[in-house]
Amino acid sequence: MRIDVLTLFPEMFTGVFGTSILGKARDKGIVSLSTVNFRDYANNKHNTVDDMPYGGGGGMVLKPEPIFNAVEYLLQSKADETINSGIHKPRIILMCPQGATFTQQRAQELSHESHLIFICGHYEGYDERIREHLVTDELSIGDYVLTGGEIPAMAVIDSVVRLIPGVLGNENSAVTDSFSDGLLEYPHYTRPAEFRGMSVPDVLTSGHHVNIEKWRRQQSLERTYSRRPELLESVSLSPEEQRWLHNMRDTDKH
Ligand code: SAM
Repeated sequence: MRIDVLTLFPEMFTGVFGTSILGKARDKGIVSLSTVNFRDYANNKHNTVDDMPYGGGGGMVLKPEPIFNAVEYLLQSKADETINSGIHKPRIILMCPQGATFTQQRAQELSHESHLIFICGHYEGYDERIREHLVTDELSIGDYVLTGGEIPAMAVIDSVVRLIPGVLGNENSAVTDSFSDGLLEYPHYTRPAEFRGMSVPDVLTSGHHVNIEKWRRQQSLERTYSRRPELLESVSLSPEEQRWLHNMRDTDKH
């Protein structure tokens, strides 16, 4: 997968792109991670990327030219054969608090793409023509406002790249992660079995794999029911799991 990030602060990505799972994925050649400073595409005397809003009001607005120019440069790049062959059009993703909320399902969907271009905003906002005529997606990482799109883009890129086959080792498998099957993940314990009078549930040290799996699934369900009950509305449960859930609700009533 190829990922390009349009930003005014490329230095923010150095550590994140070179460290841990993202750094390893890049070293293994599974993903290429690049930044483009769209100030370099401003094509005006002072490399200005923002201007005052028409109609007045506070804050500066990102101009359309630098961002359109930078994206067009990436699209024309001869290095990207997949684009030139027209097989895979890149997803052009605008980071913005008004976008669709990013979820694990969206991460899974994006992990199948071959080229993602992220646009990180700053200041008050973007010229609306960027939103209307350039991007394919608008993504938000939640209902709060950050100073810029860099940290949101890093969060999205990290969660997408870790889902590409070969990125995580078996020991870090994403299959049981929270939200992957709609539920929150079960609790984890490690050695020592007894710590300051607090012990690990017996089932986990029993060596009985069927019982361990059953316990984990029950815990997952219980945890989701108590912390994020709304998630249960879109999960398909086996008849046995529906009985467990029914019992949990019953116990709550009494
Ligand atoms: N005035 C804008 C609004 O009310 O929607 C917020 C602008 S914010 C200060 C500057 C930039 O930070 C945005 O253009 C976007 O790129 C990024 N940003 C801030 N919060 C975000 C969020 N929750 N998700 C994604 N990007 C965000």
